[in-house]
Amino acid sequence: MSLVVMKFGGTSVEDPAAITRTAAIVAGRVALGKQPVVVVSAMAKVTDQLLRAAAASEKGDRAAALEISAQLRQRHRETAAQLLSNSTELIEFIDQKFDSLDEVLRGLAAILELTPRISDLIVSYGERISSRIVAAAFAELGINSIAVDAREIVITDSTFQKAVPQDALIDKRAAEKLLPLINQGQVPVMGGFIAANEAGITTTLGRGGSDFTGALIGGALEAEAIEIWTDVDGIMTADPRVCPDALRVKIISFEEAAELAYFGAKVLHPATILPAVKKNIPVLVLNSRNAACEGTRITSLAPRCRSPFKSIAVKKRLSIIDVVASRMLMTHGYMKEIFTIFDKHKCAVDMVSTSEVSVSLTVDSNDNLPALAADLGQLADVKYEGRKALICMVGDDIRGQSGMAAQVFSAIRHINVRMISQGASEINMSFMIDEDDADEAVRSLHATFFKDPDPAIFDVEARRANALSS
Ligand code: ADP
Ligand code: ASP
Ligand code: MG
Repeated sequence: MSLVVMKFGGTSVEDPAAITRTAAIVAGRVALGKQPVVVVSAMAKVTDQLLRAAAASEKGDRAAALEISAQLRQRHRETAAQLLSNSTELIEFIDQKFDSLDEVLRGLAAILELTPRISDLIVSYGERISSRIVAAAFAELGINSIAVDAREIVITDSTFQKAVPQDALIDKRAAEKLLPLINQGQVPVMGGFIAANEAGITTTLGRGGSDFTGALIGGALEAEAIEIWTDVDGIMTADPRVCPDALRVKIISFEEAAELAYFGAKVLHPATILPAVKKNIPVLVLNSRNAACEGTRITSLAPRCRSPFKSIAVKKRLSIIDVVASRMLMTHGYMKEIFTIFDKHKCAVDMVSTSEVSVSLTVDSNDNLPALAADLGQLADVKYEGRKALICMVGDDIRGQSGMAAQVFSAIRHINVRMISQGASEINMSFMIDEDDADEAVRSLHATFFKDPDPAIFDVEARRANALSS
């Protein structure tokens, strides 16, 4: 069986033209004798808008929340009407869903408390509706498709907003609910990101989580490949929005891709790699606007590269916390006390650096910081500063190359570096700077390290073609 999981992100289903392109890509796989299972995100920006509606409701601004919902209803209705010759049934479905969303928003505006559970329920409408529209559009365009509710298959614990998948249950549900459809030649279409706990209460896998759904389903069905279709040609040497010179990375290891994803390369959700690694399933990152491009192949073994780095990732919206004690810090148990406080406030630490009297830590900027700082203040003097960014350079065997740190820091000598880390992993070198300097730092580093890219690893042809056409 040549089963392939195809995940399409928000931009790949953002409007009727995108959905039609997506259908052609899936039909192309079917024509090659593949058996696709399709996972789709909400239409582009819908999750953000649903969260905005939820925030308005929570503040008691019912009118604003319902206005956002009405605009979304209109956008989905119009998409359905444009794609289907007879859209009555689908539009009825869309109306039913938006009616029930409006009820939730009204209720929230009355009780004024947005719990993680209600937030997950609200955002779930995006994928619940997009998957039905895409399934219907596929059928209209000649694909034997069927909509499947992801919440019947992707079973998680009850950690709302970042639920943990229950692999054994997902394997079982996928075998029970997806395999029979696939065996009948049908193409299941399900929403990514959304899931449910064992009691059937809606959960989500965290922002960007549709990639993760794709990988979970691929792992459960032991697919031949997991394809992540997005709006760029693959994993690039830097975010192309920041660095227009970025090159496509043709092949990269699971380890390197995981590191990049974790350190902010939005192209892939950080957890995506895990189910694929477990079953050794290749992951491909592909462009739904440029389907002919071969994308990036993520595999267990990547070939050796003559350049030290494969890509540069940036994680923004971080804060740096300095804990300064008047007595010696490294006394027994001190670090434990500090980390216990971070744990209490559920703050994940990205980077740590210590001296005799101080510890500096970096965390995602969030609303808990004042409370965290107050607790830390019981132990020592505490300062925190937001608007920081972590730049992470990823490549295999960085440690094996001498003088690498000197080259990196000389490329950004005009920028103030606050913290540096290299060591834990052999494949990443990272440092913290002001957020306002981040884009400039990426471009300077890129210009230095991707001047003479290895054609075995990077798509140098595209750069040459661009240079000729401009
Ligand atoms: P989707 O909606 O398809 O999941 P995302 O917006 O989550 O798409 O991810 C794709 C975006 O990731 C790209 O448009 C690009 O701006 C950004 N990105 C960040 N870093 C990289 C990188 N190293 N390579 C490719 N894209 C990147
Ligand atoms: N729609 C969700 C989000 O925007 C999940 C995803 O697109 O991967 O976060
Ligand atoms: Mg994404």
